[in-house]
Amino acid sequence: MFSQKAPAPMARLRRNKNDRPEPVRSRGRRAPIIELSDVTKVYPGGHMALDRVSLSIGRGEFVFLVGPTGCGKSTLIKTLIRELDVTEGSVRIAGRDIATMPEKKIPQLRRNIGTVFQDFKLLPNRTVYDNVAYALQVIGASRHEIREQVPATLRLVGLSTKLHNYPDQLSGGEQQRVAVARAFVNHPPLMLADEPSGNLDPVTSIGIMQLLYRINKTGTTVVVVTHDREMVDNMRRRVVELYEGRVVRDEVSGGYTEESTTEFGMRMQAEMGIGADGERKTNGHGHSLAR
Ligand code: ADP
Ligand code: MG
Repeated sequence: MFSQKAPAPMARLRRNKNDRPEPVRSRGRRAPIIELSDVTKVYPGGHMALDRVSLSIGRGEFVFLVGPTGCGKSTLIKTLIRELDVTEGSVRIAGRDIATMPEKKIPQLRRNIGTVFQDFKLLPNRTVYDNVAYALQVIGASRHEIREQVPATLRLVGLSTKLHNYPDQLSGGEQQRVAVARAFVNHPPLMLADEPSGNLDPVTSIGIMQLLYRINKTGTTVVVVTHDREMVDNMRRRVVELYEGRVVRDEVSGGYTEESTTEFGMRMQAEMGIGADGERKTNGHGHSLAR
């Protein structure tokens, strides 16, 4: 199940000596973009939030990270962007051990990882356009790039008509779309979403998952933390489950790899018992949405 532990070149993150892009790797032997080896995290005070977690995620994968509240999901996400230092073990991103990465390289690491959180974290006094543009400004993008990329990304997330709205003029789902656009506007090779639909209703949640699915189809690796068991069951993607800081399940689920984004959305709505009117008909699987 786990890929080989060969060090991966930093394709997309760094170009080779001749400044040519790294060659595209053959299918089935993708170098991992995320590699945790025996990662343990003990918080000050002594709580062990991660207990010898080993995990390898290949480029282009779509992975759900699940488990009960307090099992270590957010801790794991934070170790990937070095918001938290691990107590033991190593975290490699695109082949580089980020624990030994000099402090000045951390911004570069983070700009290659788009992050989305449950609470959107938008700038309240900036428009939709400016919230997304800001993400490019801080990494020194040219005005030309900003003028091209911001509208294109807002089109991708379905917000072309809301460019000049402020966050408080948007629904929760729309605000989360802005957050996704902001995370994706510079096309990072990796996206991390920590309970992106935690505050959203089921129909809106499918929309957000559909969007992450579309982003994954562009080749970006996507890791999604969720409590939504039904969504996970229906999406049929790899599922990594944590329990008390340990990986207790890692299942690769086959099927539906060639689905278009529209087919995906329609199937999700059908399987979750949601009609064309957006109303929920039945709970198709007889269990509650909340885990
Ligand atoms: P999850 O995201 O799965 O709900 P977390 O990763 O947030 O879980 O937390 C895992 C465990 O670590 C929990 O028991 C939590 O209380 C504890 N924890 C999280 N953050 C801290 C912190 N800053 N200091 C001490 N303990 C923490
Ligand atoms: Mg959490």
